[in-house]
Amino acid sequence: MENYDIVIVGGGPAGLAAAVSARKSGIDKILILERDNELGGILNQCIHNGFGLHTFKEELTGPEYAYRFMQQVFDEKIEYKLHTMVMDISDDRIVTAMNRTDGMFQIKAGAVILAMGCRERPRGALNIPGYRPAGIFSAGTAQRLVNIEGYMPGREVVILGSGDIGLIMARRMTLEGAKVKVVAELMPYSGGLKRNIVQCLDDFGIPLKLSHTVVDIEGKEHLSAVTIAEVGSDGKPIPGTEERYTCDTLLLSCGLIPENELSREMGVNMSPVTNGPIVNESLETSIPGVFACGNVLHVHDLVDFVSQEATLAGENAAAFVKNGCKDVSDEKGIEIVATEGARYTVPSTVSLDRMNDLLTVRFRVGAVYQDSYVSVYFNDTRVMHNLKKIMAPGEMEQIILQKEKLKEFEGLNKITVKIEKE
Ligand SMILES: Cc1cc2nc3c(=O)[nH]c(=O)nc-3n(C[C@H](O)[C@H](O)[C@H](O)COP(=O)(O)OP(=O)(O)OC[C@H]3O[C@@H](n4cnc5c(N)ncnc54)[C@H](O)[C@@H]3O)c2cc1C
Repeated sequence: MENYDIVIVGGGPAGLAAAVSARKSGIDKILILERDNELGGILNQCIHNGFGLHTFKEELTGPEYAYRFMQQVFDEKIEYKLHTMVMDISDDRIVTAMNRTDGMFQIKAGAVILAMGCRERPRGALNIPGYRPAGIFSAGTAQRLVNIEGYMPGREVVILGSGDIGLIMARRMTLEGAKVKVVAELMPYSGGLKRNIVQCLDDFGIPLKLSHTVVDIEGKEHLSAVTIAEVGSDGKPIPGTEERYTCDTLLLSCGLIPENELSREMGVNMSPVTNGPIVNESLETSIPGVFACGNVLHVHDLVDFVSQEATLAGENAAAFVKNGCKDVSDEKGIEIVATEGARYTVPSTVSLDRMNDLLTVRFRVGAVYQDSYVSVYFNDTRVMHNLKKIMAPGEMEQIILQKEKLKEFEGLNKITVKIEKE
């Protein structure tokens, strides 16, 4: 069995940034395992611009952004294997993978970085009534068909769900000559970024109907129409509000699910809110030496934050290897609790010994909040109270914790993040 210092599962933006930072932290034997035929992950199909404003201070397309990191992987001569599917990881970090040339093989890893990304919520989970004709795609599948395979899924389109991929595909399909008739969103707010609503819907005159869902699908062989209706506060369709749209394509953009089958099977403690691993300030999971970053940890809006997070995971995995791969987490760390409007935090514990001078804690709110405060409490004392004009579930929020302030606070055992009106 071959030994590597660090094995990274997934060669998307998270895996690439983690690999580069581990190398820069002095780690020699690093291997990226990627099941696809190229590095870059999902960004390869995101050919629109808007990537990299934070990281590179310029507007790049998805493939351009991914290539900046791929180039560093090539320059640093970091090893990677494509067409390679990781099948299993044991809790003592033996990685089992397979591909066509090596067959099934195992690697003993000093540290493992989970960077498997996320996938779209499948239609089966959405309980839409009607037949199952051709013409219904997830927005990401349609994105791949149009941008990589060169096929148009259809000409008259209805989109269910206003996640970012759905919004981006509304614009993309329009630019390719299709008529996007409506975007229906079950929730009273959009699941996507405000900038995408403006640039992808408003600029093209595409209506967004909040609190609406699909109640009927017509067509036996191929989709011919869908009916949407308004939903009440109980989430149920309101009779008499139905609107029928003839169309040949229905795109579904109803959320992303972190790809954590491997993590679950190896026994990593998972968050029921993010569907990702629970991690400490080092982005280390409940299994020592196993780190997580990117969309497998929690779904991000911006890839720039994925890269930042993955850089930290790479540094921490490198530190673990340099410490002789020993579990030094003798203390549990201070708990970070999300409550009253804040749905979760990543990380969910912080150790004073291990944290850097500054720690970014990311979280999402559960509803739309206007003119409200992000408050942070150390035990029962409020220590941060930041006014925000607007917060929505589609936009990730963050706070920065300072090590010095945590150290100064005597007897600190709980940090609470909540949303307050005043
Ligand atoms: C369809 C879709 C479209 C998106 N569009 C945008 C967008 O326009 N703008 C934006 O900012 N964000 C977009 N996102 C979010 C985007 O995923 C993130 O910004 C970023 O790509 C996340 O990086 P990642 O490395 O965590 O995940 P990914 O880019 O998904 O990379 C994960 C990689 O892991 C590999 N992998 C998974 N499991 C295994 C395994 N068992 N063995 C080996 N390899 C494995 C996958 O093949 C993949 O290459 C989109 C997401 C999806 C799903």
